[in-house]
Amino acid sequence: AAKFRIGLTKTRDSFSGKINDLVARYRTVDEDFFEDLEEILISADVGVTTVIDMIDELQLEVKRRNIKDTRQVREVISEKLVEIYYGDDDSEEIEGLNIEHDGLSIVLFVGVNGVGKTTTIGKLAHQLKSEGKNVMLAAGDTFRAGAIEQLDAWGERVGVNVVKHSAGSDPAAVIFDAIQAAKSRNADVLLCDTAGRLQNKVNLMNELSKVKRVIEREVPTAPHEVLLVLDATTGQNAMSQAKTFSEATDVSGIVLTKLDGTAKGGIVLAIRNELDIPVKLVGLGEKVTDLQQFDAHAFVYGLFA
Ligand code: GDP
Repeated sequence: AAKFRIGLTKTRDSFSGKINDLVARYRTVDEDFFEDLEEILISADVGVTTVIDMIDELQLEVKRRNIKDTRQVREVISEKLVEIYYGDDDSEEIEGLNIEHDGLSIVLFVGVNGVGKTTTIGKLAHQLKSEGKNVMLAAGDTFRAGAIEQLDAWGERVGVNVVKHSAGSDPAAVIFDAIQAAKSRNADVLLCDTAGRLQNKVNLMNELSKVKRVIEREVPTAPHEVLLVLDATTGQNAMSQAKTFSEATDVSGIVLTKLDGTAKGGIVLAIRNELDIPVKLVGLGEKVTDLQQFDAHAFVYGLFA
């Protein structure tokens, strides 16, 4: 949790500073107060539709509780931010990875180049390995120059095996071989990289569905997760990538990287609320340990800390 706080310094400094100003400036809750709050949230990349919903809810709640003093609104703002994150899901539980079962778990990583896909796979491999899991990697991005070598370097660094073919080969064949290798070595988790070219949506869809067909044929319960990796510093661009990928394939969770590099961490809330896909992991730096399970309560309350 301490790591979470450090990684979010930029967002917290910006957000809590603005909220403090707002509370000091207004004292009593009125229309203008809500309008300024709306602006603060939008500037933190929370997303316009999400903000409008959230402000409506907040106004109702403030009325219901008969709150007049802006200092008392802070708590309600945090509550509503957590609620808006979870949307219709009232359980408000941390949404972990679906890899805690017997037998091989297969996790497919998708996302455009440069978002931090390879780094995330390396970090997660390290984390799972230190939990005692037998982890393997599949170099399914046979398209981007250097992608195979980069994944291989991560494998070496964290001490896990990488299944790879030569550049330009068929990703589905790589994944097939990786599954056979993972089975024969009794691996617990296979993390699969894929190519991230978005220029051609039809190609992307075809490639991903071919890879998925191979996985489903070899392990009928798999893939256990399809994680879309998004770069938090790209703001609304990340949102549009999320839309495109979720049309191309069934995305089960989001990994939001580079949250440490932006003051606009509000994008987390917008993604979950507008796309109804849970944010499962967040990247908070370039080090191998800078990957955390996402916890909406810790995130929101951390913003006000
Ligand atoms: P890929 O093309 O999607 O595989 O992206 P890479 O894994 O090569 O990452 C691109 C760059 O982003 C690298 O320089 C990484 O070190 C950096 N990166 C990845 N995740 C994070 C993160 O959470 N925080 C920061 N600050 N940098 C990150």
